[in-house]
Amino acid sequence: MAGIYIHIPFCRHKCSYCDFTSFPDKIEFAEAYMACLYKELKMRGEELKNYEFDTVYFGGGTPSYIPPKLILGAMNQIRQCFRLTKDAEITLELNPGTIGESKVETYEKAGINRFSIGLQTAIDEQLADLGRIHNARDYVYATKLLQGKNFSTDIMLGLKNQTKEDVRKTVELATLCGSSHISMYALTVEDGTPIFTDYLNGELPDSDEVAELYEYGRTLLEERGFKRYEISNFAKPGFESRHNLNYWKRGEYIGVGVSASSFMQGKRFTNTFNLDEYMKCIISGHYPAVTCEEVEEADAKFEYVMLALRTTKGLSLNAYQKQFGKPIAEDFPNALKKSVQYLQLDGDNIRIKDEYLYVQNSILMAFMEEETLFGK
Ligand code: SF4
Repeated sequence: MAGIYIHIPFCRHKCSYCDFTSFPDKIEFAEAYMACLYKELKMRGEELKNYEFDTVYFGGGTPSYIPPKLILGAMNQIRQCFRLTKDAEITLELNPGTIGESKVETYEKAGINRFSIGLQTAIDEQLADLGRIHNARDYVYATKLLQGKNFSTDIMLGLKNQTKEDVRKTVELATLCGSSHISMYALTVEDGTPIFTDYLNGELPDSDEVAELYEYGRTLLEERGFKRYEISNFAKPGFESRHNLNYWKRGEYIGVGVSASSFMQGKRFTNTFNLDEYMKCIISGHYPAVTCEEVEEADAKFEYVMLALRTTKGLSLNAYQKQFGKPIAEDFPNALKKSVQYLQLDGDNIRIKDEYLYVQNSILMAFMEEETLFGK
């Protein structure tokens, strides 16, 4: 099974930390952009006739900002051009500042059965600092519209002046409002974004402080029945994100739209990040991919390990051997030896012990170093 990712690059306002491909001043291009996206779906669908897809994910940008009929159009086109399973998980990212009753009705008609809401924090001053267009009340309103539906909430850690009490209020709001899934991740500060000044001025919590907030948030979530299944993802039983699980299993996916990446048939390719170029390519009947590379075996092995070890289930020894024809112990003997105190063997699976999962980067370094020795 494979996934479909659709990129909607329009936002009402650019957030201070945003490094995604999103355009705050181009909503007038939404209809023309989506007409191109429908065409790309058709082109890709013809190529991938033998594939069955069981997840669709509308990300961005802000998919809930564009007229909802365009989402309905995209879903109708996907159903016409791809083999989509009956019980496919279909997720739409939603910004609480851009939602209303009639939009939700159209999403329902489109078959959207999962929503991902960007709350980030329940503290309005922090939302304003991040340049978000919503406040906590907008989030409550959005979740009221989604009552009885399956939705996830994003929570961000490492914000200016963020305390444990703020994390508690945020977790409480997200869980009391009915989320079945929570993504709790640390703010990533990218050079070239306005928030970088706060970082340079030492106004953001350091990594130890963020790790403390994370541990606190994790405890609160677990007390409320959310089980961690990946470093940043927690779900009520049965509500894990199938689309993301496919990424962590190194499954195949096709990405459609400006800047979207794909991984199909051993190749990774990424579409242009330029909106005009994307539309011109599609109109002239060409694929808009600007990079395409065959993944070498050594990289594939490292990717497989890195992604599997992000999850609490870890890496299946049998699945690894089946995929690469060799046991992992033959490929990464030194990394396994170096990391032995951080790893745990559960039947056929090796996984990072719970207490080390959040600091897994240092563990993965050992695997990365060994990967670079392959083929030498
Ligand atoms: S809503 Fe998301 S994509 Fe849009 S500007 Fe903010 S962070 Fe970027």
